[in-house]
Amino acid sequence: MPRAVLFDLDNTLVDRDRALRELLADHFADPQDRAALLCLDGDPRFFVAWSERARRPFSQQDLAGQLALRIAPDPELIEALGELGRRCQLGLVSNGGSRSQRAKLRAAGLEELLGAALVVSGEVGLQKPDPEIFWLACRRLVREPHECLFIGDQEAVDGVGARAAGLSFQLARRVLDAETVRGL
Ligand SMILES: [Mg+2]
Repeated sequence: MPRAVLFDLDNTLVDRDRALRELLADHFADPQDRAALLCLDGDPRFFVAWSERARRPFSQQDLAGQLALRIAPDPELIEALGELGRRCQLGLVSNGGSRSQRAKLRAAGLEELLGAALVVSGEVGLQKPDPEIFWLACRRLVREPHECLFIGDQEAVDGVGARAAGLSFQLARRVLDAETVRGL
């Protein structure tokens, strides 16, 4: 059992891809528009393309709010994380802006649970896979990297970074549910 378990957020603890697909479906009837915007996810041109297609401005702030509206707490997952949190320390290392990541965390009911080491790249000026961001999370928990497990869905970002920092790594092949968390 690791002394601390740190999680990625998007598509590990919250289903961001589903929230984005729902958001696009709610705003764009044309599948070509939806596909074009999905391709630009994570690219600053996403907002220009959205604004042009919808004929009204759409900002990073709008996206953060709209995604958070499509994320709901999973009471079983929260309970399982609460149980895990009584056996070891919990934390989060997430790439993204402060506003967007915290809006999703709040919407999912996870902000308090992971508050001991809640590291968001936009708040600390570091991002995965830089080992420094993992070391920062370990320092906040007063743990050595080898005492910590990191769980994330992207091998190239989460796996490479966590291992380079000396943490154990477990790939999340789908968004975590209560059963998976209870099996940790
Ligand atoms: Mg992720």
